[in-house]
Amino acid sequence: MSKKYDVVVIGGGPAGYHAAIRCAQSGLKTACIDKWLNKEGAPVLGGACLNVGCIPSKTLLDTSQKYVEASSEFESMGILSKGVSVDVPAMIARKNKIVENLTQGVATLFQANGVEFLKGTAKLHMGPVVEFAPHEGAVENIEADSVIIASGSVPVEIPTCPLVDDLVVTSTGALEFQEVPKKLGVIGAGVIGLELGSVWNRLGSEVITLEALEEFLPMVDQQIAKEALKQFNRQGLDVRLGARVTHSEVVKGKVVVKYSDAEGDKEVKFDKVIIAVGRHPYTEDLLAPDSGVNLDERGFIYVNDLCSTDAPGVYAVGDVVRGPMLAHKGMEEGIMVAERIAGHKPMVNYDCVPSVIYTHPEVACVGKTEQELKAAGEEYEVGIFPFSASGRAMAANDTLGSVKVIADSKTDRILGVHMIGPHVSELVAEAVIAMEFGASAEDIGLTMFAHPTLSESFHEAALAVGGHAIHIANRRKRKK
Ligand code: FAD
Ligand code: NAD
Repeated sequence: MSKKYDVVVIGGGPAGYHAAIRCAQSGLKTACIDKWLNKEGAPVLGGACLNVGCIPSKTLLDTSQKYVEASSEFESMGILSKGVSVDVPAMIARKNKIVENLTQGVATLFQANGVEFLKGTAKLHMGPVVEFAPHEGAVENIEADSVIIASGSVPVEIPTCPLVDDLVVTSTGALEFQEVPKKLGVIGAGVIGLELGSVWNRLGSEVITLEALEEFLPMVDQQIAKEALKQFNRQGLDVRLGARVTHSEVVKGKVVVKYSDAEGDKEVKFDKVIIAVGRHPYTEDLLAPDSGVNLDERGFIYVNDLCSTDAPGVYAVGDVVRGPMLAHKGMEEGIMVAERIAGHKPMVNYDCVPSVIYTHPEVACVGKTEQELKAAGEEYEVGIFPFSASGRAMAANDTLGSVKVIADSKTDRILGVHMIGPHVSELVAEAVIAMEFGASAEDIGLTMFAHPTLSESFHEAALAVGGHAIHIANRRKRKK
């Protein structure tokens, strides 16, 4: 007799494990199938986010930033820290330990909530019936009232610069370097390219980033993107825009990359190269021809706003469906689907998805950019507050950047908040809450913020929309 569950979740990354836990919390008999094996060959939960994504990259970003502060910034604060150095294998080992703790933590949460972790590969058939091939043992068919697909994404590869052992690597390989590469090439100046380029640049690599587009971070508000590029250049990140890679080969242990830009054909020799040109949805061997699930023209599983696929009882969430490839977006979709299966009616507000680039300064945004609003012909007002005028930022020796609030000219409703600066990955949550509750800039201006905090910069930027900011010397004339 085949096994039967109320819900089978395919994929134990952030989207899948959130869905599975919430299903079990709602009293549904739930199994989660995942095929991920860690470096030791052991099955682990957590998907890309915990194993090779958000957590390991942030660990290396935080560690390398602390190194920069200790080695070159402490002295200006009166802390003498001569002779600071980095032990790369120890840094990587600590990162691995954090990954291990967190992936084991998800397994513990599954046990505590009664989610059954099935270790192996799933394939969806009509029914829905899930064909389960365990890492050890015989293939079996599992019946389910509902199936939630959360199979995630994998890195895009480019034929002009194929992967080569530990010389030309994806982000996964770049989290494992055992020594600082002298000269590091990064293909793609997107989120991964900037974050991992920053890690190794801070530790001493000469980093050259080749980006095909002429525009830097086109999805980010361009005022913020320009400031970010200026700061990254100052840190020594050499970002070359409009650079198209045409060929690469390994010669005597070095990677020779040929590319062309507006000036013509060029060549650079690197010790290591990271390919960071995007990720694509992962559906390899996932869908039997009779599954009834369709893909869109870009290879994402086709879903509606509620994450239902074209097959009855089958949902899909996270990186494998449209929308930004962000862990928190997948988590919220997973929760929404689980709640809907349990009979509730939540929705995901796709207008309020924050995004963060964890460089230093950090970049964080939610809502519409100024260029999007211009293109849509919307009328808006802008308020900006620089961290250089924040007492707390000065105290922390971290004054680069600013907060920008954009509000509707007529209603004053906040349409977008864009930040570059210290801890803006945390500050952006305040903007998300404000927008989720439909706040106006005036609402934020009338709200009390603790002093001295970095959050006051959001307060002042909101006040600046109407010309009411207190700590800006050359503020506009007050409007109302
Ligand atoms: P995944 O995490 O990809 O998980 C999918 C799971 O499905 C995997 O465990 C896989 O083994 C399993 N699976 C697939 N097919 C099958 C099958 N047929 N049978 C069984 N199991 C299957 N996002 C952020 O929001 N913030 C960040 O700071 C951030 N940093 C990142 C840094 C890096 C270097 C990378 C690569 C990504 C980063 N991301 C970040 C993106 C984030 O990791 C993804 O958005 C997130 O992991 C997507 O979650 P998911 O559950 O949809 O898929
Ligand atoms: P991305 O889409 O952010 O950036 C890829 C960049 O590569 C783009 O700028 C693109 O123009 C460029 N590119 C594409 N082909 C190229 C080529 N042949 N030569 C040179 N440049 C080329 O993708 P990513 O940085 O690989 O990240 C993948 C996904 O992971 C993103 O969707 C991102 O949301 C997610 N992620 C998020 C975070 C975060 O939230 N902090 C961190 C890492 C990754």
